[in-house]
Amino acid sequence: MAVQRSTRADVALRQTQTPRDSEAFEQTLRPRKLAEYIGQGEIKGHVLVHVHAARSRNEPLGHTLLHGPPGLGKTTLACILAQEMGTQLRTASGPSIEKPGDLASLLTNLNQGDILFIDEIHRMRPAIEEVLYSAMEDFALDLVIGKGPSARSMRLDLKPFTLVGATTKIGSMSAPLRDRFVHQFKLAFYSNEEIRQIVERAAGILGVRFDDGAAQRIASCARATPRIANRLVRSIRDFAQVEGEQSITPHRVQSTLDALGIDARGLDRVDRAILSAIIEKFAGGPVGLSTLAAVTAEEEETLEDVYEPYLLQQGFLQRTPKGRIVTKHAYGVLGMECPQGVQAAML
Ligand code: ADP
Repeated sequence: MAVQRSTRADVALRQTQTPRDSEAFEQTLRPRKLAEYIGQGEIKGHVLVHVHAARSRNEPLGHTLLHGPPGLGKTTLACILAQEMGTQLRTASGPSIEKPGDLASLLTNLNQGDILFIDEIHRMRPAIEEVLYSAMEDFALDLVIGKGPSARSMRLDLKPFTLVGATTKIGSMSAPLRDRFVHQFKLAFYSNEEIRQIVERAAGILGVRFDDGAAQRIASCARATPRIANRLVRSIRDFAQVEGEQSITPHRVQSTLDALGIDARGLDRVDRAILSAIIEKFAGGPVGLSTLAAVTAEEEETLEDVYEPYLLQQGFLQRTPKGRIVTKHAYGVLGMECPQGVQAAML
């Protein structure tokens, strides 16, 4: 079958790149308080305890690591932590901190108790990471000034702060960095009901009216991910507006999903291309990530971070030491018959 590289719009709908207008859109919908943050009940419970304890001791919150697939609410939670602690949030991303001096400038500009949020922290350079260790542990910066024999080291004291790191790949983080985070929270995919509430919330903020069943229909196709749910609401609203419709019917939801190539399970063209490539070209697998990336014309990182987590969670795909294999559910979702031999091997 022909393999199409996913378009910018596809990937943006899913998550990683957030062009400027998408960022503004996300800001509009981002919950500001813990009470508005839907789902992730266990994490919210822990956060409440740690925030309350830190506030009553008048200390900054312990360094916190948030990990999980894109679009599940890591950045949102970091903003909420600052809000709940009554402090400022400064943001940076791992790859944007190029030199120790960049990190020094971020850290020395923090006030007592501020939160520094570093997104994609697994992509931080090792030289920067090392500078971060003493900052996290001792609230001090050890910097080397100059080069060669005249080089000297200097220690700068910092105001106590909280580092909140976010990563989609906790396994790519070095153990020394990971271990310096006092609190570590793994964000899980959302239930259908939670996503329905997120859809209703977005509709309320955007002034969109749903007919019976429309919100539920969106929720079931949003890959258990708030960012995708919100973006679907936005796309469907645009289609309805162009057609001059006052409210969103389940039929409008369906026709927009069809136009976007999203099926009843929330899988899009790229998901289906991944599964069918494994089935048709590799007899169901195993196939290595780099080969899969080549045949689907996707980046390895995009496959791993954006597409695979949901396919794994839904039980369509498995990661084995020899590579990726599809499950018999993948044959079913593509409307294919699972060959007897493959079925037997899966038992
Ligand atoms: P991540 O940082 O994990 O990629 P974000 O925090 O940027 O994800 O979340 C993407 C969008 O999804 C946010 O703009 C927000 O509107 C919405 N969102 C995320 N988590 C929740 C939640 N628990 N409740 C309501 N909306 C959420």
